Amino acid sequence: MSHTAAELEQAVREIAEEMRARTDRGKVADYIPELAQVDARQFGLVVIDADGRVAAGGDADTPFSIQSISKVFTLTLALGMVGDRLWRRVGREPSGSPFNSIVQLERERGIPRNPFINAGAIAVTDVILSGHQPREALGEILRFLQFLAQDSAIVIDEAVAASEQRTGFRNAALANYMKSYGVLDNPVVYTLGVYFHHCAIAMSCRQLAAAGRFLAHSGVNPATGLSVVSAERARRINAIMLTCGHYDGSGEFAYRVGLPGKSGVGGGILAVAPGKASIAVWSPGLDAAGNSHLGRIALEALTRRMGWSIFGV
Ligand code: GLN
Repeated sequence: MSHTAAELEQAVREIAEEMRARTDRGKVADYIPELAQVDARQFGLVVIDADGRVAAGGDADTPFSIQSISKVFTLTLALGMVGDRLWRRVGREPSGSPFNSIVQLERERGIPRNPFINAGAIAVTDVILSGHQPREALGEILRFLQFLAQDSAIVIDEAVAASEQRTGFRNAALANYMKSYGVLDNPVVYTLGVYFHHCAIAMSCRQLAAAGRFLAHSGVNPATGLSVVSAERARRINAIMLTCGHYDGSGEFAYRVGLPGKSGVGGGILAVAPGKASIAVWSPGLDAAGNSHLGRIALEALTRRMGWSIFGV
């Protein structure tokens, strides 16, 4: 369904206003102490359509902790480095379990179910780290995001990284468990250090929507005309976002929103309307599965209004 710039702008503005007026915001993540400080009343929404038109509402330029949304970009990088060999280390099936769950690792000999749960993302980070110093690997991830968003101002929030490094005992357990099965090649502290730091990258909705455009346009970032990945790879990353991007809330997200999407406990969601738009939304309050509560509701309203669900209008 095509739209005019005015229609899209009006939809984004109205949805942002509606969301800012709501008081059912969910609960800000507090297991990472630094994230518990974030003001839950903030809300941002940015849509960049196929023609590059940008519609922005609310706190569109406030950087927030992208957390697990970084897992889309580390997956993209790792596939670029080792191709389909990556799938020896991590599966592609939805887990139906919380993002930080350890139970399936025992049944599956340390191989995580998918690259978007914590265990899977730690395995992916380990692949990126191999052959590099942690600082180089991290620089590579950060520069990739800066390149995709065409914005060199994107940085890591060191306070968030340090906060998680101090308290990330569950992730340390996951990493050590995988290491015991030989699924990680590098020293666990290095892999975890890179993982915590890429989760702590801070981006605004505007930057994030720009960085996601290649997934909406068959691997090509229309802003530069450069191919980031092949069309086939973009399609497959989108498939994993749809099935695994919201942990044990992935079914509900597909049912309500109908787009590939990846959430993070900072309250951000990157969603992809293939051929149509890249969308970033941010509201720090989370639902029980650790996904942005109002972020999901805003995306549901937007896809309904624009007719963008991949399952039909
Ligand atoms: N850094 C967070 C963690 O490892 C990411 C989790 C998330 O965003 N779901 O717990």
